[in-house]
Amino acid sequence: MVLVKGDTTGLEVRLERRRGRKLVCSGCGARAPGYDTLKERKWRHVPLWGIPVKLLYGPRRVRCPKCGIKVEQMPWGPSKSPLTVPLVILLATGSKLLAMQVVARLFRVNGSTVAAAVKRAVEYGLAHRDTSGILYIGMDEISRRRGHIYHTQVYDLSAGRLLIRHLQTAVDDVRKAEAEQLKKKNPELLKGTKYLWLKNPWNLSPKQRERLGYLEKLNLKTNRAYVLKESFHLVWTYPNRGWAKRFLRKWFWWATHSRLQPMRDFAWLLRRHLEDIVSYFKLPISNGAVEGLNNKAKVIALPREP
Ligand SMILES: [Zn+2]
Repeated sequence: MVLVKGDTTGLEVRLERRRGRKLVCSGCGARAPGYDTLKERKWRHVPLWGIPVKLLYGPRRVRCPKCGIKVEQMPWGPSKSPLTVPLVILLATGSKLLAMQVVARLFRVNGSTVAAAVKRAVEYGLAHRDTSGILYIGMDEISRRRGHIYHTQVYDLSAGRLLIRHLQTAVDDVRKAEAEQLKKKNPELLKGTKYLWLKNPWNLSPKQRERLGYLEKLNLKTNRAYVLKESFHLVWTYPNRGWAKRFLRKWFWWATHSRLQPMRDFAWLLRRHLEDIVSYFKLPISNGAVEGLNNKAKVIALPREP
């Protein structure tokens, strides 16, 4: 049963459970017997003719044989979120096309609500990604260039899975080998530096950055590997396949001529999967779309930026 109350400033829709409707556990999605009823909660829903709409409902809890006492699964989304799933989708989709402030005005919500919806949509996307072909990409170029707080966002796009992790391992192998060589001469030099080379530079603390700055001036093998690793990420900035391929060929040449065995091994791995990797550039998700997402990510990270 649905009961609607309100005026043009807002509608409240009180939902009541139909008698005999089977309850579903939100933990596992299986049917489960009822346990008790929680206090009524409110969810922001898609506005109707520009009028804000709220759903009101007292969720039931179930006693699931597998998960224990759990809140029932509701068709409009989890009980913890203040927004319904249709509203999240609408706001997040709208934000792909329009500025967040415009979306906020259109749907009569706060800017922070839109930002929260985008964040939730991204999180949902990450939680439900297809792990059969994932690529980890640091998409933080924009904020880096402008010198803002750095924010790493990860997107999944179908291409060589774990590629970047292999690259990290290669850099770390170079560091380990070099530390071993320096053991007698200068055992302190590379001590405790593992994450300096692996982290994204903009995630380093000022102290770490200073140390890295010092190490970069020395002619270290680890630094050569590091420079190769950092330059590799540039591939994702190319707008099309041809450019990306050309870049990867060039990178392959650098890496194979680096006289660093782990980097050479990685370069060959890359060469073997070159077609898979560049297939990313064939996807309908253009770099522009990724840039757009990145802009959104930045807005989430820096909501107060003018
Ligand atoms: Zn369950």
